[in-house]
Amino acid sequence: MKDIIDMFTKNGILVQPEVIDHLRNIQNPAEFATNVLKSAEQLPLVLTLDFIKHYESNLNEEMGGVPDDAGRFENEIVGKMERSELDEKKVEVRLGGSFRCIAREYDDDIKVMKDVTGNSTCEGELKDFANYFNDRLRALKNLLRQRMEMRNAVPIKRVRGDGEFVFIGIVSEVRTTNSNHKLVELEDETDTITALIPSKSPLIAESVVHDEVIGVIGRRRQSNLFIIESILRPEIPASRKVSKAYAPVSAVFLSDIHMGSKTFLKGSWQKFLRWINGHVDEKREIAERVKYLIINGDVVDGIGIYPNQEEDLAVTDIFAQYEAFAEALKNIPDYIKVIILPGNHDAVRPAEPQPAFSKEITDYFDSNVLFVGNPCYFTLHGVEVLAYHGRSMDDFVTSVRGITHRNPIECMKEMLKRRHLAPIYGGKTPIAPECRDYLVIDDVPDIFVTGHVHAFGVKSYRDVILINASAWQSQTDYQRMLGFVPDPAKVSVIDLQTMKCDVVNFGSVSEGAYQGGS
Ligand code: FE
Ligand code: ZN
Repeated sequence: MKDIIDMFTKNGILVQPEVIDHLRNIQNPAEFATNVLKSAEQLPLVLTLDFIKHYESNLNEEMGGVPDDAGRFENEIVGKMERSELDEKKVEVRLGGSFRCIAREYDDDIKVMKDVTGNSTCEGELKDFANYFNDRLRALKNLLRQRMEMRNAVPIKRVRGDGEFVFIGIVSEVRTTNSNHKLVELEDETDTITALIPSKSPLIAESVVHDEVIGVIGRRRQSNLFIIESILRPEIPASRKVSKAYAPVSAVFLSDIHMGSKTFLKGSWQKFLRWINGHVDEKREIAERVKYLIINGDVVDGIGIYPNQEEDLAVTDIFAQYEAFAEALKNIPDYIKVIILPGNHDAVRPAEPQPAFSKEITDYFDSNVLFVGNPCYFTLHGVEVLAYHGRSMDDFVTSVRGITHRNPIECMKEMLKRRHLAPIYGGKTPIAPECRDYLVIDDVPDIFVTGHVHAFGVKSYRDVILINASAWQSQTDYQRMLGFVPDPAKVSVIDLQTMKCDVVNFGSVSEGAYQGGS
């Protein structure tokens, strides 16, 4: 009987205990369950006895005809997922009745504000790196100078002799001495300076990371080393006026679909599709307003991304992975505009900023899909969104005290404080030396979204909504080996008119999503 319950739960359907009792009493429960599942798209989230009874009476009328695609689900049960397996029958939008489909009444309104796509000038030469870091320093210096304390900042070459000084520099080196002092090397376009944080200073716990731009206040006495007394970061304002949409529309945020992986959560994905098309009672009024769907990178699992990845792949051809994902998106109603950015598993250059997918890939998709780069600033009905896949979190975790893969929201705050998405150069995040630093957070967005860590979180910080969008992949063997427990299949929906957030959970225990959670 457990096998049969598994058959349902694998398809994202929960089974009432009464149904299980009922199934025990019929002749061939496995066959019966397979037949019920062939109509999976019309099945409710919870399989009730009423539903089964109703199904049986219909079946009797139809003389028990077995559908020709019944084998589709058997394949899934034995864990095979062929390319054709990923194709879904189109889920029709449920119109009229209880689904009011408000978002259909409004045209989409998207403006891309900042995106490297089509603007890349990077040739990777040495002089490009100098230009790149100069642009970073220039941009962040402008932001830092807006802070009262930094108004009198001087160029580093003027920090001479004894006295108090205020200056801004990019961190080129941080090291701890034998006596636990910290030495910070800073530079600007005029000079470099080595400054000291004494071991007894409260600043000693401060995580100063390589290549970030900081403001320094400190002093030098009797021609000794320069002592840092405060460190200032550009930060975002404590409060701000939030933009709101002029129409009752909302945006859904997803990330890390990992199509092509054996652990792609097909059942959860199907539940999500049924919800967004108005077939699920729960939170239907939220689905009615969805006008935008943002997919924050890692849309496919890719190939050769980590050691022995082949063993985790259901689809081993990268183009077939994208084709399958394009098919899956065909079930998103046409009136919803989908925005896709790449992540580190996708087939674009890994160095950030990453441009949008090439035409070879975008050709698979319908016209309601818009492809942008990573990161990207865009507005949705006037609400400004900063979308960044989040690769740099891997570097924050190793460099900033208190940051782990489990608290991505805290990591996003660190980015906002530094007004930079990926300050650390030469770590795990490859960075392309564009002549403009696209990773600077020059504008404070209304919504800041990341993915990548396969966790989930939503929080407001200084009037910015921070979202770490959830993944659609359960734990892979590789992640298990790393002790990494994902929190998948949760969807955050922001009502762009009220800026209220709702979370809809499409996860199910059956898919192993929470098995490591203890
Ligand atoms: Fe991912
Ligand atoms: Zn990623």
